[in-house]
Amino acid sequence: MNKHVIVIGGGPAGLMASIAAAEHGANVTLLDKGNKLGRKLAISGGGRCNVTNRMDLQELIAHIPGNGRFMHSPFSVFNNEDIITFFEGLGIELKEEDRGRMFPVNDKATTVVSTLLNRVHALNVNIRTNTGVKSLQFNEEKVHSVQLQNGETLEADAVIVATGGKSVPHTGSTGDAYPWAEEAGHTITELYPTEVPITSNERFIKQKQLQGLSLRDIHLSVINPKGKVIKTHDGDMIFTHFGISGPAALRCSQYVVKALKKFSVKTIEMQIDLFPATNKEMLFQNLVKRVKEEPKKSLKNLLKGFVPERFLLFMFEQLDLDSTQAANTFSHDRLREIAGFCKAFSFKANGTLSIEKAFVTGGGVSVKEVEPKTMQSKKKQGLFFCGEVLDIHGYTGGYNITCAFSTGYTAGKAAGELVSSL
Ligand SMILES: Cc1cc2nc3c(=O)[nH]c(=O)nc-3n(C[C@H](O)[C@H](O)[C@H](O)COP(=O)(O)OP(=O)(O)OC[C@H]3O[C@@H](n4cnc5c(N)ncnc54)[C@H](O)[C@@H]3O)c2cc1C
Repeated sequence: MNKHVIVIGGGPAGLMASIAAAEHGANVTLLDKGNKLGRKLAISGGGRCNVTNRMDLQELIAHIPGNGRFMHSPFSVFNNEDIITFFEGLGIELKEEDRGRMFPVNDKATTVVSTLLNRVHALNVNIRTNTGVKSLQFNEEKVHSVQLQNGETLEADAVIVATGGKSVPHTGSTGDAYPWAEEAGHTITELYPTEVPITSNERFIKQKQLQGLSLRDIHLSVINPKGKVIKTHDGDMIFTHFGISGPAALRCSQYVVKALKKFSVKTIEMQIDLFPATNKEMLFQNLVKRVKEEPKKSLKNLLKGFVPERFLLFMFEQLDLDSTQAANTFSHDRLREIAGFCKAFSFKANGTLSIEKAFVTGGGVSVKEVEPKTMQSKKKQGLFFCGEVLDIHGYTGGYNITCAFSTGYTAGKAAGELVSSL
């Protein structure tokens, strides 16, 4: 069969798998049901493509809450620094932004996609777009062929499944491979939306009181029904017409999904700390000092710039404070209430947007049934998985793309070596 590897899916995982397999001696055919490759990659990172993240390995893994520990092995084969070297070697200059995020210097995701495609072409990978795969065919031990939607059957010595998750389906990621994996004997862990905006039925959300308001450098926490913090993330967030979004909200979203399920509740508490660097007592003392300095000033004017104007007015309304009154008419208890509101503004979340609207799909092919050093199935020889189809997910910030490239390269290399040894 001429050392033939079939790669299904031309996202970052499949493109990198094709490259690595070809570099390791395989004849590669890359199949994608879309008319273009790398469609999701081209819109990732706000169209700038956050190719990877330059953190040390421990930090990198800490930012992959969905089975990050599994990534130790694929990272030992191809890690974030290898991704940087790979792209720079192909002539793309990269730059580092906040939190270690790496982007192409020209801010164009399309450059990343075209560079991968150039490399794939240079390695003579046979690319077939508009070619949907319907199923995989196995015998007792191994995968031996791929059946296409058009009825055609393609034989292969190894098959790499890189079909992505179920999120943003117009990019081609429609969850087609989960049944194939099940047929091969694999477990699909429960799928759920992650890195997804959070919804809330609170009156202030429904009435759009804070819609469009961004909060910078806050701490956002998910609280369990006993009042304990499940997870806190720092960063920016924005109020929307349905709830909250922005980086901190996206990072908290999976904990909301899991808590609603775990505690069988309809809502889960969230808290915003607008002053994470200050404790409540210090914030209260700060307010007391301000009042002492300008006692006759109205509370509204005294607190100008303390927090964003719209949040300030909202807080006065929520705490039922007549902010036109002179600052020194407010008791210390009232000032403590203001400090408390800013340190722990609490509201209820009731869910998230759908898995289709999520940036990333949580759950997928169980990593327990995949060899971490090769990405080969423990159920069928010659079958490999990589990218978001696996039960691996990271926060936005380049971690998912890093996992896709790393597992893709690892799978491609191992598949190439396997078919070369036949
Ligand atoms: C708007 C947006 C922004 C994002 N930003 C970031 C970010 O900043 N940082 C980050 O780390 N991650 C980000 N992500 C997530 C990241 O893009 C994905 O995790 C990554 O693309 C997954 O790569 P993949 O190769 O596994 O799958 P995908 O990129 O989903 O590619 C799967 C491919 O498989 C093909 N396919 C599917 N089924 C079949 C079939 N039956 N037959 C043939 N082909 C098939 C599809 O057409 C598709 O081309 C973002 C996602 C979105 C939607």
